[in-house]
Amino acid sequence: MRARSTSPGAVWRGAPAREAAAPAVNGAGKRGRHRLATRALLAGALWLVFVQPARAATVQGDMKIYVLNVGQGDAILIVCPHATHRMLIDAGARGYPNSQKAFQQQLRQLVPGQQPPLQVVIASHPHDDHIAGLHWVLQTFKVGKFVDNGKSYTKTFKKIRTLANQQKKAGTLQYIPAGKSLSSIADFCPATNLHAELLVPKGFGKAKNVNNNSVVVRVKYDKLSFLFTGDAEREEEAQLLADPLIKPRLGGAAFYKVGHHGAETSSTHDFLSQMRPQWAAISSGRKNIGKNKGYRHPRALTLGALLAVITADADKEIRTVDAGESAKGEWTTVKIHKRIYLTAKDDSILFLSDGQTVRQQPAGLANPIGPD
Ligand SMILES: [Zn+2]
Repeated sequence: MRARSTSPGAVWRGAPAREAAAPAVNGAGKRGRHRLATRALLAGALWLVFVQPARAATVQGDMKIYVLNVGQGDAILIVCPHATHRMLIDAGARGYPNSQKAFQQQLRQLVPGQQPPLQVVIASHPHDDHIAGLHWVLQTFKVGKFVDNGKSYTKTFKKIRTLANQQKKAGTLQYIPAGKSLSSIADFCPATNLHAELLVPKGFGKAKNVNNNSVVVRVKYDKLSFLFTGDAEREEEAQLLADPLIKPRLGGAAFYKVGHHGAETSSTHDFLSQMRPQWAAISSGRKNIGKNKGYRHPRALTLGALLAVITADADKEIRTVDAGESAKGEWTTVKIHKRIYLTAKDDSILFLSDGQTVRQQPAGLANPIGPD
């Protein structure tokens, strides 16, 4: 069902009034010309009000952000308030038990049917824990735009780009390597009050550490913005902060998908201070399961930094979670703010926003990877 539009601009009221204004140029006499000019102005105004194309509509209602529990990896589905337009960021892991099964099962519950559309699919960076399910995604859904960081994939994942290029040749998919500029290429919904943009800082794509070539996405819905930084670490965060066009866009984020599974090499003090997120989600594996045995994500330091920056008192309820002291250190138990959610503890999480506020609830999806 389409949400009701707040603006009459979306309503088609017959032939363009611009045509009705045409006789004005043939009018004779000063008064006549004046009257005709007034009529033309009025017609123009009517055209603006009533005959703008459907893309000028705003949307109301809840945008949905699903942070899917895929273990040590990322998979995020964003659905517009119409429930007709979707963006997928990343596609789960292979190196974590049941991650692909969890990813595919959950995405199919949310987007069922025969080749349903996914307007935009983003591969943040070509690491196993982010792109493992992308070949399946390209086969299963009708992907409109496929965005990645433009870097080559390892042998294991080469077939993703090959399939994307085949679909591009067939004219069914647009393949867009990030790296040109700030733009609306990630827009997944035509509503005028819901936008998605790539934040591509100066110098993007040159890092040796693939994490720091992560495609960063900012979604803006009415008053609020939502940030998805892939596995960007301090080097890319510094690039984002140094870019005068991007820095202000990081400010006052309502929601932050915490970079690099909550590792302390991301979410630096400077980055968090600029962003001041009010809700955060960490997608990581469970304590000592699969690859997270070695990674120990999230890290205690990151959780502490988030606890310090989330200032909303209304929800200041503290709970505890498992976190690594470092990659080689011990697991420890740390306190977190109620507005920090972890897939390892909370399973898949649904964040809802009407563009003014954010709220959270369990996604309620059947998932072979359970929470702690
Ligand atoms: Zn990762």
